[in-house]
Amino acid sequence: MITSQELPESIEPTTPAISVEHLTVSYGAVPALLDVSFSIPQGQLVGIIGPNGSGKSTLVKAILGFLRPDIGSVRIFGTLVERTRKLVAYVPQRGSVDWDFPVTVEEVAMMGRYGNIPWWQWGASKHDREIVEEALSIVRMSDFRKRQIGELSGGQQQRVFMARALAQGARVVLLDEPFAGVDAATERAILNVLESAKKSGRTLVVVHHDLATAAEFFDSLILLKQRLFAFGTPAQVLQPELLSEVYDGHVRAFEHLNRVVQEKAK
Ligand code: ADP
Ligand code: MG
Repeated sequence: MITSQELPESIEPTTPAISVEHLTVSYGAVPALLDVSFSIPQGQLVGIIGPNGSGKSTLVKAILGFLRPDIGSVRIFGTLVERTRKLVAYVPQRGSVDWDFPVTVEEVAMMGRYGNIPWWQWGASKHDREIVEEALSIVRMSDFRKRQIGELSGGQQQRVFMARALAQGARVVLLDEPFAGVDAATERAILNVLESAKKSGRTLVVVHHDLATAAEFFDSLILLKQRLFAFGTPAQVLQPELLSEVYDGHVRAFEHLNRVVQEKAK
């Protein structure tokens, strides 16, 4: 049962979808994130960039409430994430899920609904099935509904996770490197799914590896290396001096990047 406080209808459009305040998260004694603060308005498509080991996945897991902060807080629509979990969904990194048990595409998407099915009800209602059908159609996986998830490509598996997130009714969806190692057609397909989720008012946060496409894909960017180095529009964040500092000068194609950012700003 979703409490009224958690219902999206009760949320003011000006309330930030995500606000992170003074977030510090450590594994043992070593902080992976240090005093990170930012706030993301509703309905944005946001990229998280930064070198390997800079804390991108840690930030995603902290926003989801999977990791407990040492210091600081994460709020989703103004409420501590611990109390708004249903509004947030996760699309894990490709290949990070081991499908050694048989489960179909439809069943994975239906997992998004389980939270809404009372324990005494044996099976999904017609309404649940309709929602799952719609979610699968948004990610264009309806034709695969009876397929075993283990038989699909990584990109297709991610689209199914996206369907599960949509079926859950999540208003904030976090994706960890959805574009890593996919071909151009899959990249386009994922981007289309993100765009349609955004059009429906959802807020999307995406860990992204490729600086060259960051300006093209996202409304705003978070540049991370343990600390928050920059948060703003791609033009504000993709500054050669900033990138050089964060990537220790190892940024190839600075000029190409500059061109992309300038084109985008026109
Ligand atoms: P990114 O996603 O940007 O590559 P991560 O958030 O995965 O970075 O990792 C940030 C830092 O935290 C790295 O130094 C990494 O080695 C460390 N780390 C990540 N997960 C764990 C863990 N489960 N236990 C210990 N250290 C971890
Ligand atoms: Mg990572």
